[in-house]
Amino acid sequence: MNANIYAVYGASGCGRSLMPVARQQLQRLGVQADLYFIDDSLEDSQTVNGHIAINYQTFKNLDATDKHVLIAIANSQIREKIANQLSIDGIQLWTVKADNSVMMDNIEIGEGAALSPFVSITSNIKIGKCFHANLYSYVEHDCIIGDYVTFAPGVKCNGNIHIEDHAYIGTGAVIKQGTPDKPLVIGKGAIVGMGAVVTKSVPPGVTVVGNPARILEKK
Ligand code: UDP
Repeated sequence: MNANIYAVYGASGCGRSLMPVARQQLQRLGVQADLYFIDDSLEDSQTVNGHIAINYQTFKNLDATDKHVLIAIANSQIREKIANQLSIDGIQLWTVKADNSVMMDNIEIGEGAALSPFVSITSNIKIGKCFHANLYSYVEHDCIIGDYVTFAPGVKCNGNIHIEDHAYIGTGAVIKQGTPDKPLVIGKGAIVGMGAVVTKSVPPGVTVVGNPARILEKK
């Protein structure tokens, strides 16, 4: 029986980009273990980028003492659904950090995070479960980030910003620094469009775009 096995859940764009990060982490830590893709679109086992790819049911049936899974799917609602299923099945969420990601002082980060290459998380930062920070994103000092938050590549999250659960921040968005007494807040489930320059708090559930970012009205 394999003592520990590892998997990247999702074999589409997000998963295939995070697999090398996961593989390098195991190499860095000197862990010799099987590393699978899980994807529910697969009926039968396949090979994807050199790794065995199987559906969740097949993965669940594999014999191992401990199973560790990184959920590499950008949609945060799907991440939450899968995380709940993994918890029911007693399978651990796995955090993966790129070799060249930078983590400074006093960071609390929930399980199941994916920190892509060139991500920096500076000091005094609290982050919830299953955070995704894609290529070149940063989180500056004194930020509080909820569960299932997603940063596309190149997000500039400056100091004293609070981001609530399930918010999605698009590629290259810039969020203005808040202050200790008045943090800038991105509300639950809000979407910040790519390239947006966010200068003030964003209410829950809305989409903001542009510079300065404004609420996109639904037509
Ligand atoms: N997927 C899955 N189980 C689910 C939902 C999604 O295995 O319950 C897989 C789906 O088959 C697809 C991937 O997750 O291969 C999501 O890929 P998509 O291209 O939608 O997004 P991304 O890779 O950017 O997250």
